[in-house]
Amino acid sequence: MVTTQLARRGITNERVLDAMRQVKRHEYVEQAFQNRAYEDTPLPIESGQTISQPYIVAKMTELLDVQPTDKILEIGTGSGYQAAILCMLASKVVTIERHFDLAKTARARLEAAGFTNVIVKHGDGTIGWSQHAPYDKILITASAPHLPRTLSNQLKEGGRMIFPMGEGREQKLVVADKRGGELELQEVGTVSFVPLIGREGFTDPGSDPRQYMSGRSAVR
Ligand code: SAM
Repeated sequence: MVTTQLARRGITNERVLDAMRQVKRHEYVEQAFQNRAYEDTPLPIESGQTISQPYIVAKMTELLDVQPTDKILEIGTGSGYQAAILCMLASKVVTIERHFDLAKTARARLEAAGFTNVIVKHGDGTIGWSQHAPYDKILITASAPHLPRTLSNQLKEGGRMIFPMGEGREQKLVVADKRGGELELQEVGTVSFVPLIGREGFTDPGSDPRQYMSGRSAVR
């Protein structure tokens, strides 16, 4: 998967490629989909959610510019796969999932894979987790209606936040850099994620989230 699809589509960061090579994606999907785990496609997971397409995981991780000393907050643990990739690259990963069963399963998967630098929290990620703030980087893997203000406040000066923004089937992928206390936003492509649902997100899940087949990209 890594050397073929990802490199061919322009992923060049060797640390990211190496992490993608080492983390076994089949360990993060249900038995029924394990034979498709190494296809470059999103797949359904428990609670009607999705594990993102490997290319978009690699692209967002590359854009996040993860450093070995970074403390990272991920919103939308889902399967735990993106968190595992971040664990390979960063010093500490804090990840929040709103579905209790997903958080529990992801926690067990990450523990079974031997990751000791991750905390999985069940709760509303739109309000982050102030106890562990500030974060060097924040990655949101669900689409926000607008810039999430509390999460912005939990980002370090000089830090970076990446998130899909918008509603409907296609959203903008936004890179936000914190400089002088303000976030500078840059749109870097289009993606298709499930909605971010919570106090500072969408209030209504709308129709079946499976329709979005979250984590598919057309990132430039
Ligand atoms: N990163 C995941 C992975 O590697 O499998 C994929 C995440 S899936 C595309 C989006 C996830 O965001 C879903 O599991 C959904 O339940 C979660 N989510 C949506 N709103 C949330 C919120 N306010 N707080 C935490 N998780 C949320």
